[in-house]
Amino acid sequence: MTEPRLQVHMFGCLRDNYCYLVHDTDSGLTGVVDTPAVAAIMQALDETGWRLDFILNTHHHWDHAGGNLELKQQTGCKVVGPRADAGRIPGIDIEVGEGDVFELGSSGAIVYDTPGHTSGHIVYHFTDAGVAFVGDTLFSLGCGRLFEGTAGQMWASLSKLRDRLPDETLIYCAHEYTQGNARFALTVEPDNPDLQARARQIDELRDRGEPTVPSTMGAEKAANPFLRPDSPALQATLGLTGSDVVAVFAETRRRKDRF
Ligand code: ZN
Ligand code: FE
Repeated sequence: MTEPRLQVHMFGCLRDNYCYLVHDTDSGLTGVVDTPAVAAIMQALDETGWRLDFILNTHHHWDHAGGNLELKQQTGCKVVGPRADAGRIPGIDIEVGEGDVFELGSSGAIVYDTPGHTSGHIVYHFTDAGVAFVGDTLFSLGCGRLFEGTAGQMWASLSKLRDRLPDETLIYCAHEYTQGNARFALTVEPDNPDLQARARQIDELRDRGEPTVPSTMGAEKAANPFLRPDSPALQATLGLTGSDVVAVFAETRRRKDRF
């Protein structure tokens, strides 16, 4: 077996954020997915011995782009971010959007526009490595709040990910929200055996203080209600049997907002 060319170094910071160093072993190039906390990122660089070349921003929120300028100043890295939101990404150098491929040395990431949480949110899918950084669009058993988009836009973004990312793709999201998400998911699809099993596994991981991230696209498809508006059981719980998937998604999101 050959060594994977893309290495991912994951660490927690702030209250519940995850941050990721990505390192292409062929070229030696390194990126960081978002900049929630500069000191934690510098420490991670120290631990890995990697030198930072790129910031890969998913969206403009402070817990994702707030450290851009300081980190750029300290390391001389370049900032990659959403073209659609270039004006809100501090220090942006390279603008990317739907269908672009960002090359981290020999590791390529397809970029998807995923509006909904914010209007300019993007996702990076390193296709060869089978790894996706989904920011605050998709969470393990959840999805981001609709701050700047409609339910229709968010569903279009999530269903695009559901259709395009292979089941084995590792899903790296930006927050440890999984246990709360599982509790909510069980209220809308209580009889889903995949969800029940997953919720038990999540409780065990959290009891041991371990992360529930990454998940896989296949596991999310099986248990995440925000990827399942076409599920008859979910529709029945919501009293929306036979309804349009956007209406079902919107109602699921509304209930989660009040949960
Ligand atoms: Zn956010
Ligand atoms: Fe966030």
